[in-house]
Amino acid sequence: MDKELLKKIIGNPKFIPGIYNYCDRWCKRCSFTSRCANYALSEEQFTDLESHDINSKVFWQNMNTISELTLEILREIAGQEGIDLDTFAFKIEPVKKSSWKEMAENHECSRAARVYGDMTENWFTSAEESFIEKENELNLKMHLEVPDTNPVAEMNSLNDIIEVIHWYQHQIYVKIVRAIRGDMEERPEVPDGFPRDSDGSAKVALIGIDRSIAAWGKMWEHFPERKDDTLDLLVHLDRLRRKIEQVFPSARVFVRPGFDETNP
Ligand code: SF4
Repeated sequence: MDKELLKKIIGNPKFIPGIYNYCDRWCKRCSFTSRCANYALSEEQFTDLESHDINSKVFWQNMNTISELTLEILREIAGQEGIDLDTFAFKIEPVKKSSWKEMAENHECSRAARVYGDMTENWFTSAEESFIEKENELNLKMHLEVPDTNPVAEMNSLNDIIEVIHWYQHQIYVKIVRAIRGDMEERPEVPDGFPRDSDGSAKVALIGIDRSIAAWGKMWEHFPERKDDTLDLLVHLDRLRRKIEQVFPSARVFVRPGFDETNP
C-alpha cells in the first residue's frame, strides 16, 4: 500500500472512529465494511462496500428473530422437562491460579465459555454420520427434483449456521476473558456511570452468544434426531448469557461506535 492511499483512508471522515474495537472481526458478515478504516486498509480499495453492508444486515436481522424464537421454545421445553434455567451455577471445578490474566481465565463465565467450546466440538464430532446422511438426502432431492423442496437453499442455510457456530465457538471465551480482565484492571480507574471497555467486550460476547443460540435453534430444525445434545448446548448457552448479564449489568446498553448508534 502506498503512503497516499493510507493517508486517504485514515483521513476519510466516512469511517467511524474505533468501530473495530467492539466488533467480532467477521468482516465478511459485517454491515459496516464501508465505514470501517480497518476493513478498507485490509481491502485497500473502496469499491462495492455498500452493497456488501446491506446483505450482511439482512442476514443478522433474520438471525436476531430466530434467536428470540429459539429462546421462547427453549423456555417452553425447559418447563416441560423440568430444567431450571434460572440456576446460573455451573458445576465446573476452579483451577488454583493467581495473576489477573489467570484469574480472568479461571472466572466462572470463562470456564463455562470454554466448556461451551468443547461441547460444540463434541457435538460436531458425534454428528459426522448425521451430516453424511443429510448430504445424501439433499443430493437425492436435487437429483429427483422433488417438488416443494429447495435442497440448495437448505444446504446454504446449513452452511451458514455451521459458519456462525464455528465463528463464535471460541471467540465467546476470548471476549469474556478480555471483559473480566478489563473489569479488574479498570474498576478503580473508571468512575461509575462512565462507559467501560469491559462492558464493550462483554457485549460482543453476548452478541456472539445470541447469534450462536439462533444458529443452534436452526441446527435443531435440520437435525431433530439430535434434540437432546442440542438442548444441552442451548441450556448451557442460555445460562452463560444470563450469567454475563448479571456480572456485567451495563453491557447490553454499552454503545459500540457505529453498530449501536442511530445515525453513525
Ligand atoms: S467493524 Fe466490521 S469491517 Fe471493521 S473490522 Fe470489525 S467486522 Fe471487520
